[in-house]
Parts: sequence; structure tokens; C-alpha cells
Amino acid sequence: MLDILTLGNEQLKKHSILVANFNGEIHELVKQMFETMHQGRGIGLAAVQVSKLLRLFITHVERDQARVFINPEIVETSLDQGMYEEGCLSVPGINADVIRSLAVKVQAWNEKGRPFSMEADGLLARVIQHEIDHLNGLLFLDRVEAKKKERLTKLYKRQKKL
Ligand code: ZN
Repeated sequence: MLDILTLGNEQLKKHSILVANFNGEIHELVKQMFETMHQGRGIGLAAVQVSKLLRLFITHVERDQARVFINPEIVETSLDQGMYEEGCLSVPGINADVIRSLAVKVQAWNEKGRPFSMEADGLLARVIQHEIDHLNGLLFLDRVEAKKKERLTKLYKRQKKL
């Protein structure tokens, strides 16, 4: 089990760097990240959340297979956007509506170093956008209106003290 960084940790604001070698270290990291994510009942987890500043994230959305995205790039987004309540393992206990594209096309590499491209919609499209935000140092709270963000951040800090 890996420790998950939480809101307030400066590492979460950093840009992650490209994975250069698809070696055993990456395989081990992916394995541990899946264990950590499943334990926390999450549906997505980015490497930065477990203190590895690498462009890598995993997803496991209901009714979908477990997926690994390394050095991902969104190459197309739908013009249609939608609002949906999001949460994050790095901001436990807090949820907020976030507007995102309803569908995306993404290119990435899997943990074996094979490139792939896929189209996603529904919850998976949302999770992919949420996780890519992590790789760029953004949390879902950075996408809600400033006043609401401030209120939720205060609520989070209060809950953490309890
Ligand atoms: Zn998150």
C-alpha cells in the first residue's frame, strides 16, 4: 500500500514528467497503484498522488477493464460538455460538480511500452480528464468556481482536524 498525498501537499501542484523507461520499476509501481486505488475504492489514480512525478495514471471504472495510461495525450475532445459530481482520493470526503467534455480521444502507452489510442465517453472520459489534470498539477477543485473552491477547501480542512 502506497501513501496517497492529500490536498495541501505541494507535490500535487507539480507537473509530472514523461516516463522514459518501461521497466520493472514501472510495472511494480502500476501494481502497487492498483492495490492502493482498489483499497481506497477509487476509480482512477495518478502517479503524482503516490509521490511519483511521472506521467502515468490508472483507471478502473465499473463495467470497464482496468487500464494503464502512460505519457497520455488527449488528441480530441467533444464539443459537448456535461456536469457531474467528482471526488478524488487526494481530497477525501469532498465532492463537487465539474464541467468536462463528454467524450475524448486519447493516445498513450501501456505498461509494456505499446502505444495505443482509444475513444472514451461516459464516466471513463471524465476520469481520464481528471487524471490528466493531476499530471499537470491540477485538482478537480481547481475547476470549480473560486468561491465554491474556497468553501470546500475550508470544509476539507475542518473535517481533517476532526
Ligand atoms: Zn484525483
